Amino acid sequence: MKNIGDILALPGDGIGAEVVKEGLKVLDAVSKKHGFTYNLKNGLVGGAAYDATGNPLPPETLRMAKEAAAVLLGAVGGPKWEPLDYSVRPERALLGLRSELGLFANLRPARVFPELADASTLKREVVEGTDLLVVRELTGGIYFGKPKGITMLEDGTERGVNTLVYTTGEIERIAKVAFEIARKRGKKVASIDKANVLECTELWRRVVTKVHKDFQDVALSHMYVDNCAMQLIRNPKQFDVILTTNMFGDILSDEAAMLTGSIGMLPSASIGLKNGMYEPVHGSAPDIAGQGKANPLATILSVGMMLKYSFGLLAAAEAIDRAVSSALKKGYRTPDIMAPGCGAVGTAEMGDKVVENLG
Ligand code: NAD
Repeated sequence: MKNIGDILALPGDGIGAEVVKEGLKVLDAVSKKHGFTYNLKNGLVGGAAYDATGNPLPPETLRMAKEAAAVLLGAVGGPKWEPLDYSVRPERALLGLRSELGLFANLRPARVFPELADASTLKREVVEGTDLLVVRELTGGIYFGKPKGITMLEDGTERGVNTLVYTTGEIERIAKVAFEIARKRGKKVASIDKANVLECTELWRRVVTKVHKDFQDVALSHMYVDNCAMQLIRNPKQFDVILTTNMFGDILSDEAAMLTGSIGMLPSASIGLKNGMYEPVHGSAPDIAGQGKANPLATILSVGMMLKYSFGLLAAAEAIDRAVSSALKKGYRTPDIMAPGCGAVGTAEMGDKVVENLG
């Protein structure tokens, strides 16, 4: 049986532990059905790590994350740690992991399961059939550019600065990720910029167009970010892969997420030069933590993304997607996606239902 390597589980805080448990349950079941093994490691991250070691990202966790073939993260943070200094807040661990692992590409699918089309705030006919993927640049752009900061002026007022910077190399590598993924999906990339106003994204458009020369089987279009924000609500089905900068991707992926109904359904992947980190989009949900109510499907779908993007196990990844669909089709619902006529299940039971429906 093929061993795919080390998988590091970092449950974190709040519902993180509850949903990661279900993700691992499904991973165990799918590995048996699809004939592979892995070495599961566990680590501390976020508030749980701070409580145990005084550091939300202990060196031991970082070492294990660097050595692992892939990381499955739950969520971090919660009211207990809010009074802490920013330098040791649980959320700092996420930034530390992303930068230390060089995770430059963030993939956030927004796929509307037909069974949940009515859970969206938009009309069923607008969202039904939506299956898009936002590829967001994650380690560059205005969130990292220098100079940055707030300075005091001579007249006693202040000046705030952030800098939007991208180099050719940074744009090339994220564009390649988007084109390669599009090749295996609907063969369309919409590159989102503000090239009419921002020189940095004029370069973005030029470099993306150049990289596209090696991907002529994929259709490339360019769109301004303001138009994209509008098109996502007007006609989301027009999109396959959306390629964009760090800040535009941050905003557009949250907008796209709302097409799907519940934050409890949204998986994500962050991939880099060596390994990848997979996590649900949601946070630690302190309001429902410990009650067995959290929807584990975002984490279970993140496990599917891990098998696809880190290990190339496409059949196993598709089996997870299908099992989630089947469980929804049979009417099993956690409270966040409850609908009339459906059966209420808790976190662990939803995990069991996905396992039962693995083909
Ligand atoms: P949140 O995502 O934790 O919760 C927002 C709302 O969505 C809550 O009502 C919650 O009950 C609900 N929700 C979230 N996930 C759900 C699930 N799987 N099933 C059912 N309902 C779900 O966001 P928040 O309340 O703004 O933040 C809570 C804490 O999480 C904060 O400390 C924040 O910093 C942290 N956070 C962490 C991450 C992360 O670890 N990646 C992301 C966002 C927020």
